[in-house]
Amino acid sequence: MEYPYFESRPKRQFAAIFNINRCIACQTCTMACKSAWTYNKGQEHMWWNNVETKPYGGYPQSWDVKTLKLIDNGENTWYTDEKDEKLSPYGVYEGDTIFEAAAKKNINQWAVGYIPEDKEWRSPNFGEDVAKSNKPDEYSSLPEHSRWFFYIQRLCNHCTYPGCLAACPRKAIYKRKEDGIVLIDQKRCRGYRKCVEQCPYKKPMYRGLTRVSEKCIACYPRIEGKDPLTKGRPMETRCMSACVGQIRLQGFLDDNPKNPVTWLIKHDKLALPLYPQFGTEPNIYYIPPRWAPRSYLRQMFGPGVDEAIDKFMVPSRERLAVMSLFRMTQTIVFEYKIEEGPKVFETTIHGKKFEMFNDTIIGYGEDG
Ligand code: SF4
Ligand code: SF4
Ligand code: SF4
Repeated sequence: MEYPYFESRPKRQFAAIFNINRCIACQTCTMACKSAWTYNKGQEHMWWNNVETKPYGGYPQSWDVKTLKLIDNGENTWYTDEKDEKLSPYGVYEGDTIFEAAAKKNINQWAVGYIPEDKEWRSPNFGEDVAKSNKPDEYSSLPEHSRWFFYIQRLCNHCTYPGCLAACPRKAIYKRKEDGIVLIDQKRCRGYRKCVEQCPYKKPMYRGLTRVSEKCIACYPRIEGKDPLTKGRPMETRCMSACVGQIRLQGFLDDNPKNPVTWLIKHDKLALPLYPQFGTEPNIYYIPPRWAPRSYLRQMFGPGVDEAIDKFMVPSRERLAVMSLFRMTQTIVFEYKIEEGPKVFETTIHGKKFEMFNDTIIGYGEDG
């Protein structure tokens, strides 16, 4: 894959995990972000965090379908028997990323993309709880239920290879060395909207009033420990800490195997990236919903879906303990320790033995 800048992999990368199975689409996270960062004139249409209903919802409308079409070369596929723990943990993707598709099409841009029309941005969850498309005869269905849908929580992925950053002709977008947060320098931006066009997740947004683009800033003052509530310790962002369904865990991806975010993503592989085939290496990860058709989920989260759902349905002792850290504190947890207790329950789920223990998990902040 060709990328215009050297790889920038910080020692600790801003990251989060969303458990789709628990989300109730209350949009509290969406409003928490709005009331903190996008309540001003000219930002009315901006929802840096939004929760949308799949398969048909989208903000902007049909963003994923449109981008997938742009990289479709008719032969895109995953090879799951070619795994490498570090380089390709879920298998090898043989196909075009947004960068390769642009090179092949010779369009003189770093990535393929498009600028959504104004009307496509009109709602953070267009269609809401409707398990069908706008076309009357197009329904989604499962054999055991006539309809299915699920909610997906979206914000900027603070990607390792950001499409927005590659696209900007003003070099106004940068990725912070200390935590990998991707920001738009508001003074350098001239509102060319190349970031809006070439972010495959459509997370930079143009503000006509000021004629510059804006995006999620990962609530960086909280990440830097500037909020008095955590007394100088790194604190989870607004949208994470407001989550009513307790589906969100935010922290940093690093090399510490006892960091809960690192453990769930790198070691347990319970949480998966959204559309990894885009090629930007996103840093927001998802525990896929157990009820949606697997083929739909595989094209969305890659080939690790089946294993991740099996693990979620029959959690191991350590997984169950780590998952109970979701939304237990606003202070970012850097490390965990499990104090083992006695077995309290045992059963069989889908033919597999499940044991529950009265364990205690302790989360430690940056200062231990
Ligand atoms: S606050 Fe939590 S449960 Fe509610 S919509 Fe957002 S992610 Fe889902
Ligand atoms: S999600 Fe989009 S806006 Fe965010 S870093 Fe990635 S490419 Fe840039
Ligand atoms: S991390 Fe902060 S800025 Fe980004 S979507 Fe969440 S609340 Fe908004």
